[in-house]
Amino acid sequence: MDISVVIPLYNEEESLPELSAWIERVMEENHFSYEVIFVDDGSTDGSFHKIKKLSEKNPNIKAIRFSRNYGKSPALHTGFRAAQGDVVITMDADLQDSPDEIPELYRMITQDGYDLVSGWKKKRYDPLSKTIPTKLFNATARKVSGIKNLHDFNCGLKAYRKQVVKNIEVYGDMHRYIPYLAKNAGFGRIGEKEVKHQARKYGHTKFGLDRFVNGYLDLGTLWFQTKFGVKPMHIFGLLGSFMFLIGFLAVLTVIILKIVSVCSYGFNFYLTKSVYFYLSLAAMIMGLQFFLTGFIGELIIRNSAERNEYQIAERID
Ligand code: UDP
Ligand code: MG
Repeated sequence: MDISVVIPLYNEEESLPELSAWIERVMEENHFSYEVIFVDDGSTDGSFHKIKKLSEKNPNIKAIRFSRNYGKSPALHTGFRAAQGDVVITMDADLQDSPDEIPELYRMITQDGYDLVSGWKKKRYDPLSKTIPTKLFNATARKVSGIKNLHDFNCGLKAYRKQVVKNIEVYGDMHRYIPYLAKNAGFGRIGEKEVKHQARKYGHTKFGLDRFVNGYLDLGTLWFQTKFGVKPMHIFGLLGSFMFLIGFLAVLTVIILKIVSVCSYGFNFYLTKSVYFYLSLAAMIMGLQFFLTGFIGELIIRNSAERNEYQIAERID
């Protein structure tokens, strides 16, 4: 099979017939063997009923229905597990992404050798309240992930080599960072294609402004996992040592001041009135906490099933 199209959807019943017919047309014109996997993320409208109807007419249409709304990432993850095509294409269900981009995306994966090609909605039809934070978000994501050539991390329209989607785990809200996940899994040939973007025709967006707050928090998590995920002591031990050093210097200062005050008549030193006394207490306690966090982190890693999972690119036996 050439292509699997994975489409996560949540209450998009109006768009589905149009989208499905459009994909079908593109696939037939280009003679691709394909499947479309609709992942219904717990829709409460008639979405799944529509999909059922569509699949009766076209055997290439498959579907998975969640029993409740889990989110876009879980939907993508489940679609990725099921996908069989050599190239996997994801797109949103709301007709904002155009299926006409599929042939070129397919060509970039199969002929140009990319592992992942991300769409770039250069001209977007979204309100300003979304486009401006998006620019900031992408700049930060570029910096943190080190993937410097991507303008649009969170574009729903993306193409992947099959191995990529089988080796990444898209959980929580991590769909915003799939290129970063792919890079961490060793798939570093990441490209970009300018794609046409349409205004949403039916329904409304499923994400609010909290997407940016959550997006930044998730980026922090990913960065931390990438850098210290299997060696938490490297960061917590460092912070702990730093705190102990501060605490030690503060205690030393307190001791010296006390000795001086005992030996001299004019100078009185009261321990509990000294800033160094409190500093030493605070720093020691914080240092200890950092160390304990590091040790606990190490114990957790020691027991995690994935501590020795590596992506092996090739093997000669
Ligand atoms: N979506 C989903 N589960 C959710 C939220 C969204 O499967 O919990 C789907 C949604 O139906 C659409 C895609 O994810 O196909 C992108 O969502 P949306 O168009 O609302 O996002 P936006 O274009 O505003 O970024
Ligand atoms: Mg949309």
